[in-house]
Amino acid sequence: MDLFSPLKQLVALSSYTEKLIYKLIGPRLVDAWLHAPIRMEKRRLIASLKESNSGELITIGVTVSYHLPRPSMRGPYRVVVTDGVEQLELTYFKANTQYLKKIFPANKQLFLSGQIEHRAGLLDYKMTHPDFVGESYQAKGWIGDQPVYPLTAGLTQKFMRGFVLRCLEKIEDLPEWVIPEQLNKNGVNLTGFKDSLLQLHQHFSQNSIMDTAYKQRLCFDEFLAHQLALILSSRKVQLIEDNKGDHAFMIRPFVKEFIDNLPFTLTKGQQEILDVLMADFNKTYPMVRLLQGDVGSGKTIVAILALLDQIDKGGQTAFLSPTGILTKQHFETIKAMVGDRICVEILTSAATAKQKRLILERLKNGEIDLIVGTHAIIQDSVQFKNLTFCVIDEQHRFGVEQRVALSKKGDHVHLLSMTATPIPRTLTLACYGDMDVSLLTEKPPGRIPIHTSVMCAKKYPEIKDKLAQQIKTGTQCFWVCPVIEESEESNLTAVTKRYEDLQNTFGEDVVGLVHGKMKPKEKDAVMLSFQKGDLKVLVATTVIEVGVNVPAATIMVIENAERFGLAQLHQLRGRVGRGGDASYCILLYKQPLSFTGVKRLEAMREHDDGFKLAELDLKLRGAGETTGTQQSGLPKFKFSDLENATPDEQVFYDLLLEKANSYAWDLVRKPELKKEFSHAKQYLLQIYNKTNAVAYSKSG
Ligand code: ADP
Ligand code: MG
Repeated sequence: MDLFSPLKQLVALSSYTEKLIYKLIGPRLVDAWLHAPIRMEKRRLIASLKESNSGELITIGVTVSYHLPRPSMRGPYRVVVTDGVEQLELTYFKANTQYLKKIFPANKQLFLSGQIEHRAGLLDYKMTHPDFVGESYQAKGWIGDQPVYPLTAGLTQKFMRGFVLRCLEKIEDLPEWVIPEQLNKNGVNLTGFKDSLLQLHQHFSQNSIMDTAYKQRLCFDEFLAHQLALILSSRKVQLIEDNKGDHAFMIRPFVKEFIDNLPFTLTKGQQEILDVLMADFNKTYPMVRLLQGDVGSGKTIVAILALLDQIDKGGQTAFLSPTGILTKQHFETIKAMVGDRICVEILTSAATAKQKRLILERLKNGEIDLIVGTHAIIQDSVQFKNLTFCVIDEQHRFGVEQRVALSKKGDHVHLLSMTATPIPRTLTLACYGDMDVSLLTEKPPGRIPIHTSVMCAKKYPEIKDKLAQQIKTGTQCFWVCPVIEESEESNLTAVTKRYEDLQNTFGEDVVGLVHGKMKPKEKDAVMLSFQKGDLKVLVATTVIEVGVNVPAATIMVIENAERFGLAQLHQLRGRVGRGGDASYCILLYKQPLSFTGVKRLEAMREHDDGFKLAELDLKLRGAGETTGTQQSGLPKFKFSDLENATPDEQVFYDLLLEKANSYAWDLVRKPELKKEFSHAKQYLLQIYNKTNAVAYSKSG
């Protein structure tokens, strides 16, 4: 079967057409099979012109009456035909007259097909450029429902139909990668791959995926390919059953000592996650786990304890976070905890060339036990002697490739990704289908809920007055604005302007500024003095969105709050309420507010549970404002439209994704599915161009 061979080997194409086809569809036979119609067109066989409706596509048998040559050089050439009673005028612009004379000799009986127009006048029926003209045996092919394909300039619908049809003639049953038990399960009935493709072209339907069997199979396959590629690209696959019972583990004395010395006791949730991680470390294949925990749920300490376990076992470890500020903070936390008992270093873009060189050397010879860093540690130049475990903080800031790059830096690297941005289920599966997922829902005890209020930006002077009183009592405050500089077009508040104004009010030495365009060193210095409590107000862009921990800060002001997404607002709010004191979040908005803008702010006022907010976020998006794939983080699929799904369809997609995810895992792990797994690799992954993943799994 040559479904991946170049189209030009199978169908004769001029080099011009070939170029257009390759651009529109792709180079392989299977790409033509996947070129889905956008709608169906009905073409009806009628016996007499009287039966037709204006604008309709018809096929009819006629006799040629006479020709009406061009009235001038510019006008159209016309041929008049008759059904025996009425007359039909065929109009050709820029026609080849010789050719028309040849195919329409007087009194010839023939069939033609095209869009008919009714009009009042001498000749009541008219057709411009018939789609088909020919003999009765050919006319059979012009009747019924026909697909309408997406085109590109230079290709006609007629050509495209014929072309796809010729490609479809070559379609055969492929070796199945889905076992029969999977095809019909849990209320989903999947048709075979070949049948589904034929249906797609012959019975294309606008009906919902929920009612259309062929769509279900194509979407399932597409999800399966995606999930399988994710799994294959991030793990070394071993065909083994995961005997969960076998993994006896314990917290090592070295780690236990640190736990005992913490100023708090671990919550039950933290303890459970730690147990899960210890169990994962004991399995025969590397861990790839996503830890989702609401802001402030205490993920960091769990990660640190797991790092200590690996270090005690003689491994090297890495802790990756998205910003310099956060990296620095993690470094300080760890340093304060472990002192000189293990060798911890930090690597960010702030390091000088000399410092960096030294760190690289010490990583390579195994001297460093734990490297805390930003993207800098993903670079090829960073090599380890024996990397066994990586923690990635705020995973949503990193891509799969980065995760993969890290895991390639050792032979058997466990990965723990953490995120405080709760992700709706569909998104989790679509983006992180290859990972095991754990939730940390419980928050450390004694936290007082953050009091959230929503106010119009006009209240700014009052807020400033209140804040002045608070600052006198030692309170610290974050003040977030959406942009760095003012601009003519937007009426967004800029940090630079707010910084100046607040400095004028409160004094230069108590107000600090951080934003993304500052040098790392400058940012660090400002953060440090805010952390120490010298600065009382920190004006910032969303660089402080993730992870920053200053327990003494209890007030968060967010300007132009209507401009931020729910997840982002929740993240920002999570910067306060980290100590034992009551905290406040003030959301300032500017008119005009959109409907969803109002809803979002209300949601923030009413809820403080990140998972609840993530759910609402999805609902609000469904209710209007489209976010685009980029922003929502959803991968783009050919057949599945997750973005525009109705709530019911979303539930259905969830079901399909879940099914595809668990089946992908079965394929990878179950020896009895070895045959299907190999078919999936040989066909399915290639069909959806997911072959990089396979290449990786072969090499790794
Ligand atoms: P996040 O999950 O958002 O990354 P952090 O790990 O930064 O949260 O933890 C937030 C704060 O909670 C930190 O100051 C940390 O020391 C503290 N913390 C973590 N676990 C506990 C606990 N079990 N009891 C009390 N405080 C804790
Ligand atoms: Mg964190």
